[in-house]
Amino acid sequence: MYLVENSRSSTTSGCPNGFACQICDALGTGHGSFIKPNGERYAEAHHVIPDSEQGIGSLGASNINILCANRHRQMHHGDVRIERMPKSFGLEIDGKLLSIKPFALIT
Ligand SMILES: [Zn+2]
Repeated sequence: MYLVENSRSSTTSGCPNGFACQICDALGTGHGSFIKPNGERYAEAHHVIPDSEQGIGSLGASNINILCANRHRQMHHGDVRIERMPKSFGLEIDGKLLSIKPFALIT
């Protein structure tokens, strides 16, 4: 399986939610992604704390959300507020408050 991280491809050991966009899922808007020739859903890994900051844990699964390409761009360029919670990220996006688990805690 391959997961795109900032235009680089990297291998993963799998994705419990089938690469579904966590924000589209939480908003109930349906999945804005496409299915790849191998049958897997296209997804991107978003580092909630930017990996460019290279903070402790910024590259770990506890700092990653699985997003469709559109929501990934929105997280970087849209009007989104983020708050780190003990076991999730609190997001204010499209006028709604969401609690999104990091990739490490998806079951
Ligand atoms: Zn999405």
